[in-house]
Amino acid sequence: MKIYSNFLSGKIKVISLVSNHVKLALEVDNHTKKGQWFYFKVYSTKNTKLIIELNVKNSYYNGWEDYNVFISYDQKAWFTVRTSFDGENISFFIFLRNNILFASYLIPFSFEKYRNLKSYLNNFDYCSTVSLGITKLGNILQLISCKKRSALKKVWFISQQHSGETLGQFILDSFLHNLVNEYNQLLDTYEFFVIHNANPDGTFLGNMRHNSEGVDLNRAWHNSLTKSLEVTLILQRMQKEGVDILIDLHCDELSDKIYYVPPIIRDHDFSLQQRKFEKCLIKSAKIKKLDNINAIKGANDPGMLVNYAPKLFNCVTVLIELPCKFQVGINVERLLHKVGIAFLQALEAFQDN
Ligand SMILES: [Zn+2]
Repeated sequence: MKIYSNFLSGKIKVISLVSNHVKLALEVDNHTKKGQWFYFKVYSTKNTKLIIELNVKNSYYNGWEDYNVFISYDQKAWFTVRTSFDGENISFFIFLRNNILFASYLIPFSFEKYRNLKSYLNNFDYCSTVSLGITKLGNILQLISCKKRSALKKVWFISQQHSGETLGQFILDSFLHNLVNEYNQLLDTYEFFVIHNANPDGTFLGNMRHNSEGVDLNRAWHNSLTKSLEVTLILQRMQKEGVDILIDLHCDELSDKIYYVPPIIRDHDFSLQQRKFEKCLIKSAKIKKLDNINAIKGANDPGMLVNYAPKLFNCVTVLIELPCKFQVGINVERLLHKVGIAFLQALEAFQDN
């Protein structure tokens, strides 16, 4: 039996492989002392049942109660398996019907899936993908834009500032596929700018939150020139294009629900547009506002995009938190697909305001 993590986003520390009992531990993000993301391949004989015990004491968030691990036989179809937590380790059984099986913290969004999306969008002459620049590790920071003409409102989506929070990319995949089909009338009102993966170096390394230099991008917006190349490149483009609505996609390690967080800045007078957009999110997309936002430690951090963008662009801004905890049996990709459509419905409702 062997455990591998020598592939894109792969990350795990092997402690011991004894009989059918595999002991593993979280590997931390580089330049930091914490981790959360794991992604590994198990290679063994066919029809083997194994117990995997994964030490998670170095995690950023102790969100392991009711968490269920994601499993795949082919890195395409993913499902959750029942996972238990004893306060320091998560444990789950796996059955290898073939020789290979993959396990991951959340469903990884593959390069192949991203390539397929881009080649599909190539069929529409109003969609394009451009490079915003090259990251420290030589990855391309990309922007997808869809615009028919100079429309009234510029809508930005940004996903995976925290590289392990992969689920936002599934929402954007659904959003863009549906935008160019049933919802293309939205292009009369909006121009769309989509950063599918704001932290490709973090994805490459299998980090949960940080880029290759240990920077948490979503704490670096107010001081981008000295702190992060990714933030600088994105910000330059935002300033060039303009921003009217900005939706920043994240995943909450502690949550089993989707919710939104508005900006928390004391000296900012929330605009009528912001209130209207939030109403559309609640009514049309069925996304609730987080209760008791002020109780969250650090939620007023000026380096967070949700707090920084309204000051700079006077735009409507929300941070979306997607869950990391899913019950066994739920089709997570289908659920995320629906959320992508829900954003289109919210924008449709908002344009009628
Ligand atoms: Zn995040």
